[in-house]
Amino acid sequence: MKYKRVLLKLSGESLMGNASYGIDHDRLQEYATEIAEAYSKGVRLAIVIGGGNIFRGMQGSRKGFDRQTGDYMGMLATVINSLALKSALEELKVKVKLMSALQIEGLAEKANGLKANQYLDEGWLVIISGGTGNPYFTTDTASALRAVEIFADAMLKGTRVDGVYSDDPEKNPSATKYDHLTFREAYDKGLKIMDLTAFTLCEENNIPVVVFDMNKTGNLLKILKGDAIGTIVSRDPS
Ligand code: UDP
Repeated sequence: MKYKRVLLKLSGESLMGNASYGIDHDRLQEYATEIAEAYSKGVRLAIVIGGGNIFRGMQGSRKGFDRQTGDYMGMLATVINSLALKSALEELKVKVKLMSALQIEGLAEKANGLKANQYLDEGWLVIISGGTGNPYFTTDTASALRAVEIFADAMLKGTRVDGVYSDDPEKNPSATKYDHLTFREAYDKGLKIMDLTAFTLCEENNIPVVVFDMNKTGNLLKILKGDAIGTIVSRDPS
């Protein structure tokens, strides 16, 4: 395996499948199956899931909630998604520990990098929910932070597209896909891969980011083995 210890980021939106809200059962099962397979190969996995399929802070502030309350609602949404994934993984006999940056006694342990590392070393898969625990951040930033904390070989960003393109491939048919980019190139080209806070954290701590299509069966394992699919963003130019 090229990557033996990784942080996998799944967006909340991708859990919706074709629905417009919530958790699609089939999609959840597909993700759990892919993840369980990677786990069975001995890869140390920590997972962060977004909450956009249930609630986003900005969406609340447009509807009269104050921003910070909306953000807490979004962070709670990540806990709901994480509980769903935990349950689906446990059905597949994966040993899962659930942590949360927001304390919910009885459901999740307080997110802690040292403890997460201990669990990973013991063979647990660790889901770290609740974002950073702070309003005004995103789960991409939470993922970058957790990737640094667990000394990840890479942060794998599972999306609905197969990598980073020069333009929106759905709108511009001549958009081209990048196989590799440096963080600097991505900044300079103004590519929107994730928010800059997340991006900077990965760059500063030398954590490569792999953007790939999580909806294609087998892709997660291929990435872990080092197959050239998706886009790698790293410090080095090669
Ligand atoms: N959020 C937050 N702080 C964090 C992480 C998330 O306030 O550290 C809130 C924010 O309102 C965000 C929502 O949780 O809109 C859901 O997360 P995100 O939009 O990153 O989910 P995704 O787009 O990955 O589904």
